[in-house]
Amino acid sequence: MAQAAGRQSIFITGAASGMGRETARLFQQQGWFVGAFDLNGAGLESLRAELGADNCLTGLLDVSDRAQFEAAVAAFAEATGGRMDVLFNNAGIAMRGFFDEMPFEQQLNLINVNLVGVLNGIHTALPLLKATPNALCFSTSSSSATMGMPLIAVYSATKHAVKGLTEALANEFRRHDIRVADVLPGLIRTGMPDQTLMDAAPDTGPFRLIEAVEVAKAVWQAYHSDKLHWYVPEELAELDKASGLDPERLRDKLARNLG
Ligand code: NAD
Repeated sequence: MAQAAGRQSIFITGAASGMGRETARLFQQQGWFVGAFDLNGAGLESLRAELGADNCLTGLLDVSDRAQFEAAVAAFAEATGGRMDVLFNNAGIAMRGFFDEMPFEQQLNLINVNLVGVLNGIHTALPLLKATPNALCFSTSSSSATMGMPLIAVYSATKHAVKGLTEALANEFRRHDIRVADVLPGLIRTGMPDQTLMDAAPDTGPFRLIEAVEVAKAVWQAYHSDKLHWYVPEELAELDKASGLDPERLRDKLARNLG
């Protein structure tokens, strides 16, 4: 099994594609040891070939399954001597449609992957983060955590939950010397958004189409910073302010878009 051999290490979920994969690339290029976990075995295989077998540990993981998460973290701990500099809870799924037209089972599945998956990650990785000086617990929230978004209501709710959890734990985990932060991406070119949504993206503004590597750069910067929320692009912070100051105005603007 590949060993970190003194290198700093990052554990990434949803690493086979999109922003997780770009983050794996960037950290490996910076000399880190990468733990890359995902449901997608073929994607992990090609990532391993790209990063080099000595530079990473890859493994199948469904983040919503606590026992699988414990096994993945145990394997990672074996490779790193019980350390983890960054936990990146990034795996997520999206589903679009009116709330009342989406089967309840699908809504529960969204919650199990996007929120319970993050809880599983934090619970299981905590002993390693505690054992690592200056560790960072980092999660992927979303621009849909700035204001509840129509047509992705439950997805948006899970991402609000991740943001709230991040804020609360950023305080609680000070007693363990662990930093906690998140990224709120807008529209990122990955396997997730519909092609039609990406094709229709505006050329400018907070919802222009952004490359996944920009999120990877935010993760890298987050490790070297004490900032809580990373908006990609940065203008999304204005949306967060607007929803705090005048939620009715923003609600009505979103309703016009929907219309
Ligand atoms: P992506 O689909 O390219 O990557 C997501 C990865 O997560 C995939 O490799 C997939 O196999 C994996 N995954 C899905 N369910 C899993 C599970 N149960 N266990 C383990 N792995 C699982 O999409 P992405 O855009 O890179 O998504 C990464 C994160 O970014 C997600 O949390 C998503 O909600 C969030 N996000 C994406 C956008 C965007 O516009 N792309 C915007 C905001 C937030």
